[in-house]
Amino acid sequence: MKTEIPYDRFAHVPERIFGLVDLAYNLWWSWHSSASILFKLLNRAEWKMSRHNPVRMLLETPPRFFERAATNPEYLRRYDIIMFRFREYMEPRTSWFAEHYPGRVPLTIAYLSSEFGLHHSLPFYAGGLGILAGDHIKASSDLGVPMVAVGFMYAEGYLHQHMEADGWQKNVAEILDRDAAPVLRVLDDNGRHLVVRVPLIDPPIYVAVWKVQVGRVPLYLLDTHIDENLPENQSISHRLYLKELECRLRQEIVLGIGGRKVLHALGVDYSAMHLNEGHSAFAILERLRERLVAGMPPDEALEKVRGTSIFTTHTPVPAAHDIFPEDLMARYFRSYCPSLGMTWDEFMALGKDPHNPGARFNMTAFALRMSLFHNGVSRRHGEVAREMWQPLWPDLPLEEVPIDAITNGVHLPSWLNHRIEALFDRYMDVIYPNWREDYDNPIIWEVVDEIPDNELWGEHQWLKMKLFARLRERKRLKWAGHREEPANLAAEGLMLDTSALTIGFARRFAEYKRADLIFEDLDRLDSIVNNRWRPVQFIFSGKAHPADEKGKRILQRIYQYSQDPRFGGRISFIEDYGEQLARYMVQGVDVWMNTPVPLMEASGTSGMKAGMNGVLNLSVLDGWWVEGYNGRNGWGFEGHTPYAGNNRADADTIYDLIENEVAPLYYSRTMDNVPHKWVQMMKESIKSIAPEYCSFRMLKDYIRSYYPSVCMYAAEPERQLAGIEGVCLPTNPFR
Ligand SMILES: *Cc1c(COP(=O)(O)O)cnc(C)c1O
Repeated sequence: MKTEIPYDRFAHVPERIFGLVDLAYNLWWSWHSSASILFKLLNRAEWKMSRHNPVRMLLETPPRFFERAATNPEYLRRYDIIMFRFREYMEPRTSWFAEHYPGRVPLTIAYLSSEFGLHHSLPFYAGGLGILAGDHIKASSDLGVPMVAVGFMYAEGYLHQHMEADGWQKNVAEILDRDAAPVLRVLDDNGRHLVVRVPLIDPPIYVAVWKVQVGRVPLYLLDTHIDENLPENQSISHRLYLKELECRLRQEIVLGIGGRKVLHALGVDYSAMHLNEGHSAFAILERLRERLVAGMPPDEALEKVRGTSIFTTHTPVPAAHDIFPEDLMARYFRSYCPSLGMTWDEFMALGKDPHNPGARFNMTAFALRMSLFHNGVSRRHGEVAREMWQPLWPDLPLEEVPIDAITNGVHLPSWLNHRIEALFDRYMDVIYPNWREDYDNPIIWEVVDEIPDNELWGEHQWLKMKLFARLRERKRLKWAGHREEPANLAAEGLMLDTSALTIGFARRFAEYKRADLIFEDLDRLDSIVNNRWRPVQFIFSGKAHPADEKGKRILQRIYQYSQDPRFGGRISFIEDYGEQLARYMVQGVDVWMNTPVPLMEASGTSGMKAGMNGVLNLSVLDGWWVEGYNGRNGWGFEGHTPYAGNNRADADTIYDLIENEVAPLYYSRTMDNVPHKWVQMMKESIKSIAPEYCSFRMLKDYIRSYYPSVCMYAAEPERQLAGIEGVCLPTNPFR
């Protein structure tokens, strides 16, 4: 099994800088701004045209650009340094992991997720869950944690959002050109694209395998769009989260059972599995089955599988948990179930939802039963999840329900703006040049206090202007290309004012996020945004799930307000929220607002991205902000509970906060036109949020919590279990 970069397609790249091709196929460049500059300097126009996809750019750049770079001493100097750093990164002498877990054979963790948000050139994600998964594996790479990741090759995965003049969201699918993206075919021993059969499912499903290199972590992507499959099975990996239940089930069978099989086919020696949300949980069945078939006593097999399975649940929203009816399960698992030595009823009992027994299979309940280590994604969510799932442990008091809390974190090098980073460099370098390896250490962030207020404020102003310029540029191009409706132009940010206090709100338009909360009292809102001395403007962005009519209606309502002259162009809605726009927004607005229904936000991560860039959070105390808020780093308020549709009280709290605290602080300037108290708060935000809510802290928490268990239970490498095909067991191991 191998992957090979198709070097022959890059014959036009001169030998001297041929390393650019290796760099293009490893996403390492995407979180090292000095590396991405190499691509930008090579061919600025094509870099932009390709939407920062280096593979496409290298393929489409004419030879004279390469010749110019290959004879430019300045370019070559940079190139040599970057290539040296890249090669050193790929083969490090040591790492955090090696230092902390020395002397052991490193046990590899397989990380399964239905989405991965890595970079806008790879549209394999829908929202926060995917971005989190991407950040998780980037951090694993940086820390040297041995990991392989498995996900889907969504060929038509990414739905762009186009706003109609009446504010209705239209979805436009982007088709990925796999031959011009940083993905590689995995080849079998005969040099053909590796195809693996998902075991025991009938009619059979086959998956072809692709690979994305994320620093040191390989991400394998499953692709069902191949001739070997029946037409209805070919579409399994077309899109994220197929709505129709049977399609969704097939998707999860492919991810869990297929994913596991693919790792075997690749000869990946891993010892534990981390399931990022329940979509991939069927992998547990396959792990169990293989041990049973290999002759392991059932108790031991179950104990080993549980002891090496890690499951992270990400949402308290009931509708977000996958639940499959029994007849549907039977269609696929009747043929599978005997190999576990179970009766059908025993099999269905594994996924029984204690709240809602009935003939259904709940993936979250199943994953919780079958993993020893499971967690929610913030302290508050841990509490909520313990309460939610206590019926699974009826003998335990609530506080002993074994669901831990590991608060999410974001990959700091991916989300910290490089200008802010350069500013830290200037002050940190003097005393701690290695801060980049240690940025989850709160002590080093004290240096932020040494940055002069006007410098930090200056960078922030620059980022704000850059955001506005980007938004205008997007509109300009669309207007030129499609004769965009003038009402849309006005609604979408053309009238943004760089001197006005700017509040950003961008996320999925799920109902519980209450994007429209500030529209509860239009007169009050009117007086806030049109305040003559202290104007406030709002930038909204985000997509509704294509099937979520309620979400689309909320979005439409906001869009129509943004077209309403009453609000003077101070409310805007920016279409097509995604990773790239998120980056500009969390770095460029003044305040990041979040207004979920209390107890519904498991964690939230965009506020972490904002906070580490000095953008102040104004949020309901829910999810991560319950623990992130310290009274000095932004604004927090208890949402009204119990909720019962009671939005007005929360809206009033927000109006009061903006009028009495946020706006006065922002507009209180000294002679130098710097709001020093505001900058104080920005510093406090950076200091308190960057070290604590970064993915280094998160990943280390995970490793410390579950790795000892993994080491204890994973005596035998899983590869020995490879190649085991369907055999039926005569007895039930759990009896
Ligand atoms: C960070 C991020 C999210 C997650 O945002 P929440 O705060 O969890 O709502 C969603 N989408 C994109 C593109 C992101 O970058």
